[in-house]
Amino acid sequence: MVTLARESRGMTMSELAARAGVTASLISKVELGQREMSEETAKSVAASLDYPVEILAWQESIYGFGSSSFYHRKQQSLPQKSLRQVQAFVNFQRIRAKRLSSALDLDFSFTIPSLSVDDYGSPEEIARAVRAAWRMPIGPVSNLTEWIEAAGGFVVTHEFSSAKINAISVWPPGESPFFVLNTLLPACNLRFSLAHELGHLVMHDVPEPGQEEEADRFAAEFLMPAAEVRSELRGMNLRLAARLKPVWRTSMGALIRRARDLETITDRQHTSLRVQLSQNGWTKQEPVTIPYEKPGLIPEIVRVHHQDHGYSVADLADLAGLYTSEWLDLYEPRGLRAV
Ligand SMILES: [Zn+2]
Repeated sequence: MVTLARESRGMTMSELAARAGVTASLISKVELGQREMSEETAKSVAASLDYPVEILAWQESIYGFGSSSFYHRKQQSLPQKSLRQVQAFVNFQRIRAKRLSSALDLDFSFTIPSLSVDDYGSPEEIARAVRAAWRMPIGPVSNLTEWIEAAGGFVVTHEFSSAKINAISVWPPGESPFFVLNTLLPACNLRFSLAHELGHLVMHDVPEPGQEEEADRFAAEFLMPAAEVRSELRGMNLRLAARLKPVWRTSMGALIRRARDLETITDRQHTSLRVQLSQNGWTKQEPVTIPYEKPGLIPEIVRVHHQDHGYSVADLADLAGLYTSEWLDLYEPRGLRAV
């Protein structure tokens, strides 16, 4: 927990040691489990990290990138320190969601199934199977976040300090699936990333070669089913992509790629459209924007605790292992406050 708390603040061991007035070697030994901290030291370490001291005694499993239950979608390589900070944020969010929901009897309409490509033949078949199992209407997915939450998944949006990471998912054994989306990216990209992560959780119990391509194929079919989208993609050009974007809520880039994959345009036409996108500066920022999907499950849990269970803000901050001001920033931002 000391490691997780420190990394969540982006601090090195020596920075923490200096702030807490102890030696870096003490911090290092504590983090390696070679030494216990005195009560005094624990208090000053926690204070330096701006967390209540109680969290340092939490017995929680921590998952790192590279562990089989952790996936992340990133565009470019991210420095190790930033990756670890993102990882710490996700673990804390996951642990807090677990603690906040542990006293509740949550009842979901359906679940995220585990299906293998070997059994189903292709990621596209699996995407169709999940849509069918969830009894989704044909056509565009109006709100993917809502579907995932109805299947018992937690979705959290957060503005990270870098746009290099899009989405992270983690599904530890015995816990709820957990997704974090980086709002530095446009909403249409996040929907595709969320569908991609869903694909991992459905298809990949253990990391496999080819898993990224499979997750992309799952996402494309899940959000733009071939049988329903193909006829709309004929004669794809930039104007058509811009017109279809608010309908399918996927990026113009994704619609153009889909047109190529479903062979309504040739590879050459596809390349030419890519060039046009880039000439217009639309590979970075596209002209039509779609609104962000707002996760509702965690806000609903917070509301139930306040309104039905009579918890105060301080009670919930305690439960989540946060000081009140950080609790309010993260869980009850202005305009969303239940009480
Ligand atoms: Zn992936």
